[in-house]
Amino acid sequence: MIVLKFGGSSVQNSEWIDKALDITAAQLNKAPVLVSSAMGKTTDLILEMMKLAEIGDMNNCLPLMDELKNKHMQTAYAFLSGEVLERAEVRLNELLSQFISLLKGLSLLKECSPRSKDALLSFGERLSTSLISYRAEERGMDVEFLDARTFMISDENFTSAALLLELSEKKIKEIVKPVAGKLIVTQGFISSTESGVTTTLGRGGSDYSASIIGAALNAEEVQIWTDVNGIMTSDPRKVTGVRSISSITYNEAGELAYFGAKVVHPATIQPAVRKNIPVLVKNTRDPAHAGTCIEAKLSGIGLKAITSKKDITLINISSSKMLNAYGFLSKIFNIFEKHQTSVDLISTSEVSVSITIENTDSLEAIKEEMSVFANVCVEKNSSIISLVGQDLWKDSHFTSRVFSVLQDTPVRMISLGSSDINLSLVVPMEKQDETVQKLHDEFLKEA
Ligand code: ASP
Ligand code: MG
Repeated sequence: MIVLKFGGSSVQNSEWIDKALDITAAQLNKAPVLVSSAMGKTTDLILEMMKLAEIGDMNNCLPLMDELKNKHMQTAYAFLSGEVLERAEVRLNELLSQFISLLKGLSLLKECSPRSKDALLSFGERLSTSLISYRAEERGMDVEFLDARTFMISDENFTSAALLLELSEKKIKEIVKPVAGKLIVTQGFISSTESGVTTTLGRGGSDYSASIIGAALNAEEVQIWTDVNGIMTSDPRKVTGVRSISSITYNEAGELAYFGAKVVHPATIQPAVRKNIPVLVKNTRDPAHAGTCIEAKLSGIGLKAITSKKDITLINISSSKMLNAYGFLSKIFNIFEKHQTSVDLISTSEVSVSITIENTDSLEAIKEEMSVFANVCVEKNSSIISLVGQDLWKDSHFTSRVFSVLQDTPVRMISLGSSDINLSLVVPMEKQDETVQKLHDEFLKEA
């Protein structure tokens, strides 16, 4: 079997839902389970309504309620007809009126607990998947609609619930029965407690749902359908000549996620990767494009992507007391820990330590405490540039090529990660974009 997950933008209207169903129909022989997000922007719309309800402002809520209703009804009218449309109208009206009653109730109480939030949020996915399922029926597909809350069982941590993995796996195997030729449609993101109260898995949770279902059913692959051609070699908004990466390891994808390559968050696909199930990131707009395959292990080594992050602060700490002393680093890290400041890169020599941080809320206090035993020098407006790829250091030419590109760039810090997959450089922020471009031209430009 395979799992196909469609994100909000991939089911944003009737045409896109049809594209998603074209993609699924072409793979019907692989016993597909289609997991969908709410239609694009619906979750945000519901959140907005909840905020208004919480202050009892139903007046301003009304146009948003109409928007929610129209969006789903118009989609139904656009691609359903006859008896299927009649049933769809009944179902959508039922969901929408439940939603509205709940919202009105909350506005009267002027409260919106996390538990109520989840109940309301769940309607986004329940509406979208109802439409998808009716449309599949209209197109003559053999379709089974499943409510994910019957098999995705979570704790009671509303709005970012954690699945009870063993129980969910057992239920998934009991309830979700993929068969070649049949399409199963279900919701991402939503789940329920053991006693049947609706929960959600946190924003973007649909990828996680897909990955859990795929892992439980030993899927051949999990396909994440989005609106870009997979994971890119660099940020296409800033760098020219960017292309998509055909395959990448889970760990490489993790390094990229830290730098904001938000196509998929590695944590959400971990259940599939742990079972050696490949996760494919594909473009609904361009299904023929290979996209990116994320796997646990790949044989290939070499540079995959270059990313960067701005607004980094570099702290250089030096002290002659460090010479041959022990406990010095622990003293430094204790100070960061005390001030709940996370350290990203570090590099040390015998008498100095360089550290980068992002959160500068406690910078002054940290500096003050450290000044007691060391010289501290802070450089704001720095950027981290990160070259990500498996076993970079094994290629002896790699580092020399990096440094030849950087001849005229004032590199402030270098760290070749112990993970073997990340060479990070700190440069002044004003040099960030041009440095990434130069490195990308050298290593990753399309041939
Ligand atoms: N609809 C939810 C969100 O927008 C879950 C998801 O799309 O993954 O966050
Ligand atoms: Mg998403």
